[in-house]
Amino acid sequence: MWFTPRYDWGMLLDQRQRPLRDLRISVTDRCNFRCSYCMPKEVFNKDYAYLPHDHLLSFEEITRLARVFIEHGVQKIRLTGGEPLLRKNIEVLIEMLAKLSTLDGKPLDITLTTNGSLLKKKAQSLANSGLRRVTVSLDGLDDAIFKRMNDVDFPVSDVLEGIAAAQAAGLGQQAPIKINMVVKRGVNDDQIVPMAQHFKGTGIVLRFIEYMDVGSTNGWRMDEVVPSQDVIARIHAQMPLVALAPSAHGETAQRWAYADGSGEIGVISSVTQAFCADCNRARLSTEGRLFLCLFATQGQDLRALLRGTQSDADISAALQKIWHARDDHYSEQRANGQAPKIIQLKRVEMSYIGG
Ligand code: SF4
Repeated sequence: MWFTPRYDWGMLLDQRQRPLRDLRISVTDRCNFRCSYCMPKEVFNKDYAYLPHDHLLSFEEITRLARVFIEHGVQKIRLTGGEPLLRKNIEVLIEMLAKLSTLDGKPLDITLTTNGSLLKKKAQSLANSGLRRVTVSLDGLDDAIFKRMNDVDFPVSDVLEGIAAAQAAGLGQQAPIKINMVVKRGVNDDQIVPMAQHFKGTGIVLRFIEYMDVGSTNGWRMDEVVPSQDVIARIHAQMPLVALAPSAHGETAQRWAYADGSGEIGVISSVTQAFCADCNRARLSTEGRLFLCLFATQGQDLRALLRGTQSDADISAALQKIWHARDDHYSEQRANGQAPKIIQLKRVEMSYIGG
């Protein structure tokens, strides 16, 4: 472990007394899928202006920023994208982050969200580089339905083989592998029960995500949302469930266990049951802009501080100012019909800041 000075700049609280605990870092704005709820093909086509490589934060810059965030209490880093496994040599970044420890001296909790397309090839090298766990997005088991969700010709079997490779590489040892399924009414909601049956008893935790109005390009409509309550009811009717307590403060998923003891599932209900009250997440875009909410309209540029003459203490001061001023709670505002006009119009794209 290299010598890293501990500044312990102290926990940060925002306007709603929410601490900064969880940092999501987008390492690329590119993806090899075109999920309709995130990167609709009509918008993210060959003419779309993706970020030039020199705009991306380098691994050294990401690690330096991560250290500053850790000195303010961050305990978990999630690598996202676009598709993070498309970022060349991502294992090198994971190795650099894995050398960092949290303020209480524990290893940093490093995880990653992937569409699983490259997992079969990369699972072992990711595990060797220090990745502790992984979340895989999978929106169905039926190839035709899967294609309707991700708009590319990619077989479900390859993603399932990637998940098996992740299990074989030990990425489910310290914490269960998680599967995220976005549910869109009339497209893949008939896959809810088959997916539950498929992963029941495997030790893998399947989470159902309510379709969200992320970004400004996915044409979101409320009538295409399947409320989590309905998801639970559909599964419970065939495989009885019991509610579980949250496993961590600020957890996004509500947990349910199969009554027969064969595992658990989760639901993430940003639309019908907002969880902004204890949202402790910040998101760093691929080019170093800090976003304080998944539905934000703008972010604060930290790259200029990294590439300028500022010290870590200067970056810490900037971060303190940004987080202290944070009052984001879009899902609550959406729920009570008070979402500010600006947010209704121009939200940042999820593929740019990660989920
Ligand atoms: S809407 Fe924003 S503030 Fe609320 S939980 Fe999501 S990211 Fe956090």
